[in-house]
Amino acid sequence: MRRYSVRDGTLYATAFYLAPPKQVHRLHSMISTVPGERHERRGPRMTEHNFASAVKKIQDALGPDCPEARGVRAVTSPVLGAELTEDDIVALLDAGPQEQQTLFALADKVRKRFMGNAVHLRGIIEFSNYCVRDCLYCGLRRDNRKLARYRMSIDEILKVAAKAAAAGYRTIVLQSGDDFHYRADDIARMVERIKRTAAVAVTLSVGERSRKEYAVMRQAGADRFLLKHETADPDLYRRLHPGMTLDGRLECLAHLRDLGFQVGSGNIVGLPGQTVRTIAKDVVLLRALDVEMAGIGPFIPHPDTPLASCPPGDLAMSLKALAVARLALPLAHLPATTALATLHPDARRMGLSCGANVIMPNVTPLEFRRLYEIYPGSIALRAPEDGGIAEIRTMLSSLGRPVSDTCGHSPKPEWARATRVAHTSAH
Ligand code: SAH
Repeated sequence: MRRYSVRDGTLYATAFYLAPPKQVHRLHSMISTVPGERHERRGPRMTEHNFASAVKKIQDALGPDCPEARGVRAVTSPVLGAELTEDDIVALLDAGPQEQQTLFALADKVRKRFMGNAVHLRGIIEFSNYCVRDCLYCGLRRDNRKLARYRMSIDEILKVAAKAAAAGYRTIVLQSGDDFHYRADDIARMVERIKRTAAVAVTLSVGERSRKEYAVMRQAGADRFLLKHETADPDLYRRLHPGMTLDGRLECLAHLRDLGFQVGSGNIVGLPGQTVRTIAKDVVLLRALDVEMAGIGPFIPHPDTPLASCPPGDLAMSLKALAVARLALPLAHLPATTALATLHPDARRMGLSCGANVIMPNVTPLEFRRLYEIYPGSIALRAPEDGGIAEIRTMLSSLGRPVSDTCGHSPKPEWARATRVAHTSAH
């Protein structure tokens, strides 16, 4: 059992892992009131002083002579961002153009110190665009009848995974819509066969399943699971995900945690109905979940969804959310997401300079890639079959950032060695 102290800000996460599903709701309401509630009653004070004091908390925690990237990761101090209240996070997210530079530089320093300079490439295979869900923002939603649907066969998936491993990827991400055509057993067999033939870590991102199904996937050797919480506002969650709830999502995340996956979550920036405080709550939730990875990217409207006419997420706010997540989660892997890169031609570089240390190039065969249209105009459509490794290497070398040659497991002490399959029950 992992141990937490109150000080490291993950007490609530512990409670999550231990709680039976029915209590998750109550725990969620704790999350949304702690910390920062005391300040909130007096009303938020969005002054320069607030920004400065939030920055000072991190600077003080880093110490005056912060040793930066000496080749050894400083795997200590998850307390770094624990002192930030929800109000502090709002103040950081409200940073103007000048303050923003201070925030980005600080996030870059924290990234360098805790995660080093190397960038991890995760090759993503989008193996099915069928989906039983009807998420209002997503082009794969069930009710989008305009989209031609595809499923890759297990053999096709294995071939693509082998090619990606040969191209140098050390993590393969298998993502799909919530498609129950693939039973947990099918996914488990894919994972086993990929891991038998290539020295890669496998991340699954196949949506909401039962604990039993997740257990089968974990037993097969899946290392990580990515399930974004999307938004920490339960009402907004309900409106955007017909028939689904934030509590249900959190319950899945609790199961994944308990089964020994390295857990990835994350949120969308710029959803209609969202405020800066909602995004602050997203960061507080990610910290409470103590995630090993967080994908934070802007909303991009899809023309064949009910949100077609909504404006896209803001680039600066997306970068600020990423930077604040780095301060709150010094040891998390944070990608410069594809959605961010789709918003602005230079956004990958910007993301890598304000907290990100991961890129997820798309290695899906081109014939399918164009059909995995969660939003239109993805930069993935302009990348070659191998995801564009050469171009990425050039961009990274201009930033002085090497490509990692490891699988890039979480640097937290509990993941330092290879990931054993947890002997946890499926019930
Ligand atoms: N079925 C899986 C994978 C979903 S697609 C699951 O539920 O986890 C992967 C991610 O794409 C989602 O988690 C969501 O955050 C993001 N996404 C979907 N539509 C989007 C849009 N219009 N703009 C930005 N991100 C979007």
